[in-house]
Amino acid sequence: MRNKQSYREKQELERVAMVAAGLVGERYSGVSSIEFHMTYFQRGLHPVLMERTLNFLPANYACFHMKCVQEGCTDGGYDLAPVVASLAKSRKKSTKGKIFCHGTNDTLGHASISYEVTIQYQKSGSKAG
Ligand SMILES: [Zn+2]
Repeated sequence: MRNKQSYREKQELERVAMVAAGLVGERYSGVSSIEFHMTYFQRGLHPVLMERTLNFLPANYACFHMKCVQEGCTDGGYDLAPVVASLAKSRKKSTKGKIFCHGTNDTLGHASISYEVTIQYQKSGSKAG
C-alpha cells in the first residue's frame, strides 16, 4: 500500500532534514562559502533542462541534496553532500563531476546533472576541527 504524502508533510520532512543537516559553518569550519554550478540534463530531444548556481554561506543549512526536476520522479535527486565533504576534507578548491538520478520509478537513470563545486576557505590558517 502506497500512501501519497501531502505537500505539507513533505515540506515538514524537508525542514526536518535541513535542520538535521546543520549549518555550513558548524559542519565545515574554515569554509567561507560553497558554490554549486549545476546543469540539469534529461533524456530526449532537448537534453539540457536548465542551469543553476547556488551559494551556501556559513549561516546557511548544509543541505546539499538537490531535487530531481523530472516530472513524476519519486525519491530521486542528487546528493552533493559527499562531494562537499570530501572536498572540504582535502582542502581542495573545486571539483567537477556528474550524478545520475535513480528515482524509484525509473532505474535507467532518466536524468542527470553535471556539477562544479567550488569552496572558498577563510584566510586564517587555523586548523580547527
Ligand atoms: Zn529523477
